Amino acid sequence: MTEKLILDGARVAGEIKERLKERVEALAAKGTIPCLATILVGDDPASETYVRMKGNACKQLGMDSRRIHLDAGTSTEELIQLIRQLNDDPLVHGILLQHPVPHQIDERAAFESIGIDKDVDGVTTLGFAQNAFGYAAYPSCTPAAIIAILDYYQIPMEGKHAVVVGRSPILGKPVSLMLLNRNATVTICHSKTTNLPELLREGDIVVAAVGRPKFIQGDWIREGAVVLDAGYNEGNVGDVDYDACLTRASAITPVPAGVGPVTIAMLLKHTIDAAEKAAGR
Ligand code: NAP
Repeated sequence: MTEKLILDGARVAGEIKERLKERVEALAAKGTIPCLATILVGDDPASETYVRMKGNACKQLGMDSRRIHLDAGTSTEELIQLIRQLNDDPLVHGILLQHPVPHQIDERAAFESIGIDKDVDGVTTLGFAQNAFGYAAYPSCTPAAIIAILDYYQIPMEGKHAVVVGRSPILGKPVSLMLLNRNATVTICHSKTTNLPELLREGDIVVAAVGRPKFIQGDWIREGAVVLDAGYNEGNVGDVDYDACLTRASAITPVPAGVGPVTIAMLLKHTIDAAEKAAGR
C-alpha cells in the first residue's frame, strides 16, 4: 500500500496564524488594531457557533472583533443600512455577514452592499469577478483555504485534472476558478450532473463541496487522487466518505481539522491585509 498523506489543516492554520500574529503586532505598534465585524441575523445555533469561533480566533491573534447580532425579523433595508455604517467606519477592516440569513432578507442585495475593500469573505460579485480574473484582494475563504493546503504540501495543480463537486458562489465556483488560474484542467459537477462517479474517477484532485454527509464514495475516486473535503455536516462529518476514500487517495483532508481551520485563518489573513492597506502599507 502506498503511503497516505493526511492533509493536516490544523497544522497549516497554526503556521499561518503564527505569521499573522507578527503582522498584527507590527500594526498595533503603529496604532492600528485589525478589526473584523461579524453580523449574525437570527438565532441559528450553528451560525452562532461559527460567528463565535471567528470572534475567538480574532482575539487569539490580538485583533478586535465586533459581533453584531440582529433580530430574526430584521429587514433587508435595516441590514443594508448597518452594513453601510460598517463600510464607513474606519475602525472596521473586514465585514462578514454570516450565511444563511432569514428568508425575508434578500441575501444577495445584503452581500452586494459590503464595500469591496472590506469584502474579506469574497462574497460580492465584484470580488468574485476579480477572483475569476486572478487578482482578487480577498477570494472566498474556503476556496482560498483549499489552495493554501495544496500549496503548503506542495501538491502541484498545473496540468492536473481537478474535479469539483458543487458550484455554489462561495465555494464550488470560486475554487474551480482558482484551480483553473493555477493551470489545472477543471471539471465542475453539480446536482444535474449525470455521470458523477465516472467524472470523479478522472480526477487527480477532487474537491467535495456538496453539503451531503459522506457523499463521495471510495470507488468514485482514482488510485492516488488528492481529496479535499470542504464539507461540514452535522456530527462533524464531511462530504467525503473518509475511510472509504482513504484506501485509494494519496492525500486527503480529514473532517474536522482539515479545510475548516484554514478557512478561519484565511479570514483573519484577509482582515489583516485590509487593515494594512487601510493603514497605508
Ligand atoms: P450549497 O450552496 O448547498 O451548494 C451545494 C452544491 O452541491 C450545489 O452546487 C449542488 O448542485 C451540489 N450538489 C448537491 N447535491 C448534489 C449531488 N447529488 N450531486 C452533485 N452535486 C450536488 O453548499 P455550499 O455552501 O457550497 O457548501 C458545501 C459544503 O461545504 C457544505 O457541507 C458546507 O457545510 C461546507 N462549507 C464548509 C466551509 C468550511 O469552512 N469548511 C465553508 C462553507 C461551506 P446545484 O448547484 O445543482 O444545486
